[in-house]
Amino acid sequence: MTIRPNAIEVSALDKWYGNFHVLKNIALSVAAGERIVVCGPSGSGKSTLIRCINRLEEHQQGRISVNGIALNDSVKNLDAIRREVGMVFQHFNLFPHLTVKENCALPQILSRGKRRREAEEMAMHFLGKVRIPEQADKYPGQLSGGQQQRVAIARALCMTPKVMLFDEPTSALDPEMVKEVLDTMVTLAEEGMTMIVVTHEMGFARKVADRVVFMEAGQVIEVNEPQAFFDAPKHDSTRRFLANIM
Ligand code: ADP
Ligand code: MG
Repeated sequence: MTIRPNAIEVSALDKWYGNFHVLKNIALSVAAGERIVVCGPSGSGKSTLIRCINRLEEHQQGRISVNGIALNDSVKNLDAIRREVGMVFQHFNLFPHLTVKENCALPQILSRGKRRREAEEMAMHFLGKVRIPEQADKYPGQLSGGQQQRVAIARALCMTPKVMLFDEPTSALDPEMVKEVLDTMVTLAEEGMTMIVVTHEMGFARKVADRVVFMEAGQVIEVNEPQAFFDAPKHDSTRRFLANIM
């Protein structure tokens, strides 16, 4: 029997920005297919943590691996990890001068060497999945925020990642657009995608998360299944945080 490595393994992780100790001894294991929601006050290190997983930020101590591949100074490993990890940001980060379809197709052509036709077929497939195929020939600026974020999700999925990281994907959206993006993420979760989602959408966390992680001041304070996390938080700081956002 082969033992499947965890999708994401973080241990004894420390990171500093200059003198500022932003991540302190973080440990987090995410099994394949698991959905993790990360929450915590602004500035607690949530973005930094998930950005370390595909080395958008570099850590100084500790270990990170993705599907058993160690994130170290090997460029080969980093390339391999970036192939497995898709990321969706708060501010979509679409290319404004490219159409929706091109936004989804171009990364496949540039970093996977796909032929245009094949890349565009893939783009249309995932634009269908996020339910905006009819927007394919528009530019991002012609779309609502919710639609743009769904394009960003489709673009990430076009690279066939094994793990998806979301950094507050709905916090820049008008309230009426939050649901359409969360619904897309729920569908992805139901299909078995491994996900780490930084969000304060606690309804989503209750519905989708296998575990909720609470961070404060660079540390993981509490990790629990949603029901226990929300109904019986163990730490005062978790209770205070939940009281403030709910
Ligand atoms: P969160 O996502 O939980 O709001 P961040 O990970 O963005 O927190 O930031 C954690 C802390 O690190 C904050 O105090 C922030 O000001 C600081 N920080 C974030 N990015 C940088 C950077 N590039 N250089 C220096 N400090 C940073
Ligand atoms: Mg953040």
